[in-house]
Amino acid sequence: MSRPRPAGQHTVRRHNSALVLGALSTAPGSSRAAVAAATGLTKATVSSLVDRLIGAGLIAEGEVEFRLGPGRRGTALHLSPAGPHGLGVEIGVDHITTWLVDFTGHVRRKWVRPGDNRNSAPARVLAKVATAVRAAATEDVPIGGVGVAVPGLVEAATGTLRVAPNLGWREVDVRDELVRRAALDVPVLVGNEANLAALAELRHGVGGRDFVHISGEIGIGAGIVVHGALFEGVSGFGGELGHLPVDPRGPVCGCGSRGCLERLAGQDRIVRAAGVTTVAELLTALAGNEKAALAAVRTAARWLGVALSAAINLLDLPTVVLGGTYAHLEPWLGPPLAAELSRRVLGAQWSPVRVVASELGADAAVLGAAGSAIRAILADPDPYVASVLG
Ligand SMILES: [Zn+2]
Repeated sequence: MSRPRPAGQHTVRRHNSALVLGALSTAPGSSRAAVAAATGLTKATVSSLVDRLIGAGLIAEGEVEFRLGPGRRGTALHLSPAGPHGLGVEIGVDHITTWLVDFTGHVRRKWVRPGDNRNSAPARVLAKVATAVRAAATEDVPIGGVGVAVPGLVEAATGTLRVAPNLGWREVDVRDELVRRAALDVPVLVGNEANLAALAELRHGVGGRDFVHISGEIGIGAGIVVHGALFEGVSGFGGELGHLPVDPRGPVCGCGSRGCLERLAGQDRIVRAAGVTTVAELLTALAGNEKAALAAVRTAARWLGVALSAAINLLDLPTVVLGGTYAHLEPWLGPPLAAELSRRVLGAQWSPVRVVASELGADAAVLGAAGSAIRAILADPDPYVASVLG
């Protein structure tokens, strides 16, 4: 077994570059001196790292100098909006959505390609995804990486999609297929859509640092965030709230089990029970106080409460963020769900569970996917910097 060795100069620079970017991500507009103070690095080290990061386009200098104190001036530094962009792709059951997000987190362009991907051969869908990625990559900005959100189990270590019940996919190497088809020379990261949505919620949302984010659409996924970090289980397979069995004798699910939550509280079930055909029609019916629609959502809230109370009794989470279609249903879904949780969660009397609607709604997954490409560069900027500076 090899012993740990002291970090070489190159490794140290890698680590310290990430520290500098982290400081500017937390406190945009900081001067070199402020970055030095925040990171514990010397001013000389910060200056040399900043020069290199400016050279690679990751940091931009403000035009206006500001006074730090008597006789001292500093230039404001920011992550550069012209720096590496994250390209986010969501492969949904009925759409492929692509977003281009700049290095500071602002959305630059959005594309949506509707279409039924259910039971389509993965090769067909991935060919469409590759076309979407190539189209986005023709925008006149540097692409730092591609993040792909898929509605299924993704093995964290390999990026392999093991199973996506609602797409009817098994064992698809999304990352390699996409790299090959789109002829990409940037990193491609593949993640579970509910986990990526939870990360977007953590960065941009209303959930705080401890919450479970529910992506309630045709499938139901959960992203669990504890102390500001995603908890995805040992293999990356955690958070499959939609496949919690809530009625052992219930309808057969695409996963092969019976009575899974998503068969009883998913978007398709609610829409059908309400006697309408689309979510838009469902929302109109709810706004018009139509009985069947109100009852359909109340029933879904009860099943969701059964499943979520199990999760919260196990994990002790203070906040439920309703995302995806559920975000739009929150005015009707939230109160009966909160009531169900207050009855079923043992600790609710001392730590009430807050139910809130995500402001990101159905956009969270694609935003999280684009963000994953940017987070990877923030955490380890050197490969990108080296690719630019040569
Ligand atoms: Zn299932």
